Amino acid sequence: MSFLTGVGYFFIGGCIAHMLPRFPFLLMSRTKGFNTRFPSHPEAIPLSPYLTQRVLHMRMFYWMGLIVVFLPLILGLVSVRWGNAAFGFGLWIASGWYLLNRLQSLIGGQTPPWTKEMALELQILANLAEESGGCCNWASPYWQVAGIVCVNCNTKLSNMPRPDLGRKRSERRPLGFFRLLVSDGYPMLTMPEEEE
Ligand SMILES: [Zn+2]
Repeated sequence: MSFLTGVGYFFIGGCIAHMLPRFPFLLMSRTKGFNTRFPSHPEAIPLSPYLTQRVLHMRMFYWMGLIVVFLPLILGLVSVRWGNAAFGFGLWIASGWYLLNRLQSLIGGQTPPWTKEMALELQILANLAEESGGCCNWASPYWQVAGIVCVNCNTKLSNMPRPDLGRKRSERRPLGFFRLLVSDGYPMLTMPEEEE
């Protein structure tokens, strides 16, 4: 095996192991039938129990990756031992990196893009609007890219930026897929506070 083929195999292994554990979040909710309760992709989403549930589902898909990642991890070990070592090493590096990355959020690193607290805040705001104890009499809170806003009176109810919510993306297929891979589900904007 020449050096260049080795690098190629390493790269392919790395790509496969990078994508496999992300498949639950990349694919599981993108079909049309899954999203009839929501407006289509870049539009704001009204707060509702469906939205709260969606955030919890995305959270589940996110953590599901921790189980799926053992596939490339084991395949990598097998491949290093008995198969193509460069390919196996690529698998191993990428899945090992993924594991470390996920585990660091348990010891106080960056929080996942979807959390239970996020779902709770959404439901509390939805309830407030329902009970007319919110910002105005006809409160209808929507989750926009940069936060939650009541479209009736324009009050900003929350600064929580909107992560990917599993809807089919409006960009063309390879581009939408690529953006998801790069953003990993996190909101695609830098907050004004962080820019300074
Ligand atoms: Zn309002």
